[in-house]
Amino acid sequence: EGGGNMAASGAAQLEDWCGPEGPGAGGLTLLGAAPGAPSCPHGPALLFVKTNQGEEEGRRFYACSACRDRKDCNFFQWEDEKVSETRLAAREEYNRNHQPSFTHRHNVERYKNFVLLPLSKRRFCQECQQLLLPAEWEKHLDHRFLCGISTAQLKNPSRLLYPLENKKTNAQYLFADRSCQFLLDLITDLGFRRVLSVGTPRLHEMIQSKTSQEENSRVRSLLLDIDFRYSQFYTEDEFCHYNMFNHYFFGGEAARETCRKFLCQDSGEKIIMVTDPPFGGLVEALASSFKKLMAMWKETEKAGHNNQEMPMFWIFPYFFESRILEFFPSFSMMDYQVDYDNHALYKHGKTGRRQSPVRIFTNLPPSMIVLPVEEGYRFCSVCQRYVSSGNQHCEICDSCTSKDGRRWKHCVLCKKCVKPSWFHCNSCNCCALPNHTCEKTDAGCFVCGKAGHKRSACPSLSRT
Ligand code: SAH
Ligand code: ZN
Ligand code: ZN
Ligand code: ZN
Ligand code: ZN
Repeated sequence: EGGGNMAASGAAQLEDWCGPEGPGAGGLTLLGAAPGAPSCPHGPALLFVKTNQGEEEGRRFYACSACRDRKDCNFFQWEDEKVSETRLAAREEYNRNHQPSFTHRHNVERYKNFVLLPLSKRRFCQECQQLLLPAEWEKHLDHRFLCGISTAQLKNPSRLLYPLENKKTNAQYLFADRSCQFLLDLITDLGFRRVLSVGTPRLHEMIQSKTSQEENSRVRSLLLDIDFRYSQFYTEDEFCHYNMFNHYFFGGEAARETCRKFLCQDSGEKIIMVTDPPFGGLVEALASSFKKLMAMWKETEKAGHNNQEMPMFWIFPYFFESRILEFFPSFSMMDYQVDYDNHALYKHGKTGRRQSPVRIFTNLPPSMIVLPVEEGYRFCSVCQRYVSSGNQHCEICDSCTSKDGRRWKHCVLCKKCVKPSWFHCNSCNCCALPNHTCEKTDAGCFVCGKAGHKRSACPSLSRT
């Protein structure tokens, strides 16, 4: 195994990226959105069930949809719990008090005033992550701040704001320029003129700034993200404060309407949705929200879309392939490796290429997704799609089988291709790493594919 691949220690680091705590004693399963669910500051809570080992039925409870870390939001309620009127009132009060101090509308007004200021008076408080108007300077005097905020900086907020890297909640990993440019080129080459950017602030800003000059090839983007800091830089037609785990628009019906209008292809401009959710996120919750966005798109078109789906790029690690396909059978995984700026392990370093585990899942025909030949991708005429340079077409499987970019090998006993580092283990009756401990668990985990635990105890889903 050469350098820069995802072997042994890479796998541990990969888990670290996904933010698991390791399997707990009991399994946690998401049941999903429930009618009448109580709300926390992040909108309706999701219903989970916790099962302890050996127990048949677990106890059901509600928890925050957005925050996987109790430190970020500690909302918790047993499903069968009686909540008193006073506690309900206190909760509502708490939820109100935990909304941002400025509304989006107010932030838009502030921005208008901010751009009128001469450069010398344009300050950004790094501690409060906020553009400052001169009247507010006093309150932030002992905070670190930047001066002379240029128009270029205002147009690239993802470079001005610090990325919220807390793994379990925001997990803000920004695209490397190379990957961001690739995505935008791909989108425009495919003829899309509108992009619903769900949790992709850097793609959104690249679209806003790169395509605003050329009027006829203009692409428009609407950003949906839970990071409210972005409301300082975009109008209500460009950004909606949104929670993708429960399809919640913080701005209420008006914001939902903005989204619906955007999805309306009245002028015949083709739309694609691009999303790059936190990887530790609950796939079923995401899928349910994305289906609601797709339904919104479908409803807007009076003529109907001939039973088509809204085109979508879902950017996610390759080991979630089976989970994504479970919810979206029309999707397929592309070999393109998406690179990030602020992730030390997987960014495109100076010393050479680190392999990223992150891929594009799409419902567009794979043959349409042209991958850069300069980066080693090639077209497999049998599979009718672009594949990684190391991905060899297996005659027995009749497909290019590698998932991680390395050349995989076919195991006749398993009747499929496996990772190059694996060997067939006769006691497990399947292929595994040579130093694995033989266990009688059936197959790999349903979620991450790894052996040793079941889906309910998967570290990439555990919340506590
Ligand atoms: N690679 C992307 C950023 C992906 S990071 C880019 O460069 O544009 C994940 C993004 O999802 C972040 O912007 C984060 O703020 C957002 N996010 C995290 N949790 C979210 C939630 N519950 N609802 C909506 N957006 C969320
Ligand atoms: Zn401040
Ligand atoms: Zn092939
Ligand atoms: Zn094979
Ligand atoms: Zn085998």
